Amino acid sequence: MENCILQSQKLEAIGTLAGGIAHDFNNILSAVIGYTEIALDDEMPLDAPARNSLENVLKAGLRAKDLVKQILAFSRQTQYEKKPISLGPIVQEVLKLIRASLPTNIEIRQRGLGGGSTVFGDPIQIHQVLMNLCTNAGHAMRNSGGLLEVGLSRVEYSPSDITKPMDVKPGAYVELTVADSGPGMSPTVREQIFNPFFTTKAKEEGTGLGLSVAHGIVKEHDGAIRVDSQPGAGTTFSIFLPLLADAKETDAAPEEPLPPGTE
Ligand code: ADP
Repeated sequence: MENCILQSQKLEAIGTLAGGIAHDFNNILSAVIGYTEIALDDEMPLDAPARNSLENVLKAGLRAKDLVKQILAFSRQTQYEKKPISLGPIVQEVLKLIRASLPTNIEIRQRGLGGGSTVFGDPIQIHQVLMNLCTNAGHAMRNSGGLLEVGLSRVEYSPSDITKPMDVKPGAYVELTVADSGPGMSPTVREQIFNPFFTTKAKEEGTGLGLSVAHGIVKEHDGAIRVDSQPGAGTTFSIFLPLLADAKETDAAPEEPLPPGTE
């Protein structure tokens, strides 16, 4: 318990510090990116020798901006705008985006997205959680290929339910699962994945913030996140968000069919 409090104080301190720096850094980066784009688009001849270097400046700047965005999300300097939302359309939208960035040797399946799965949440934040989980799953399978399965279901846990995960309070939930058939994680890695800046990826590929951001957002929604992963046996993340019963849904993303190759 004491450990838990220390951990959350530590996270809060890192968050405040990182958030302040990230905010200022964001403005500086916007200038770097903006001027580089102007030079490339308007000022520099197409055959100028410096063009390649400048394109690399732009790429690095855009990557830094993405990192800053993650840090701002981590430090929770984003305002939450919660309302009743249905998770099905958000999942559809994320899968459409993810499909475009995944190699064709990764198959995407979805299940249980039809029915009402309403929660009281911020659609942008939930979108981000799902994006982070699917991106990680895609990364884990990018060489081997495999199956990415995203599912939605309703679960209800009574206080005496022995199937209830330890960190989930009794009640009715929407359970969102993201499962991949990638290489899985060792117990040592699994224990650290929610720590900010923990990553096993190469420097230019991972920030180590995706899962700590996801964890923070889920907690902010009174939910829980849990991982089931074994080396060689894939990984499943489960997110539990309190079900909003009898809600009138607003702002649901349109249900559009996924591009070919998805189910
Ligand atoms: P990043 O993706 O930038 O490394 P994350 O916080 O999203 O940061 O993930 C932390 C680490 O968790 C990853 O570097 C990876 O080792 C591990 N991880 C996350 N998702 C998966 C997955 N689906 N399969 C295997 N390992 C994963």
